[in-house]
Amino acid sequence: MQSYILIVRVLNNFSASVGSLGKVEFCRGYYMYVGSAKNGIHRVCRHFKKDKKLRWHIDYLTTSNQALPVCAYLFNKEECELSKDLAKKYSFIKGFGCSDCKCKSHLYYCESFPVFRTQVVLPSDCFNLEMNSSGSLTPKT
Ligand SMILES: [Zn+2]
Repeated sequence: MQSYILIVRVLNNFSASVGSLGKVEFCRGYYMYVGSAKNGIHRVCRHFKKDKKLRWHIDYLTTSNQALPVCAYLFNKEECELSKDLAKKYSFIKGFGCSDCKCKSHLYYCESFPVFRTQVVLPSDCFNLEMNSSGSLTPKT
């Protein structure tokens, strides 16, 4: 698996200061954040943690008390390709999470819970699953 979509539920409308982006308005509903899973699922698992140093744009959303990281879907597709697919269908927050690439955004919005037919990672999986060299999830040894 090469990339993931993290699903973050926003409980109520709120605004937050997001590093270099400044003030960002978030709406009640679900946000989809696209990232790279090339080095396994530890990045996905980091999103589920509330207590962490704010390093990337997405950290300002996942650590909010109005937001709940729910799960992540895994894809065999390069992250920016996956992001472009989402851009065809969903609205986005311009400049979010895409400082290192040419995408308009890596954060998309959906009013209802988005379902993708692929492998899913839940917060509880972070304790007992890992990704093997072929990109499949397997029990931790
Ligand atoms: Zn990109």
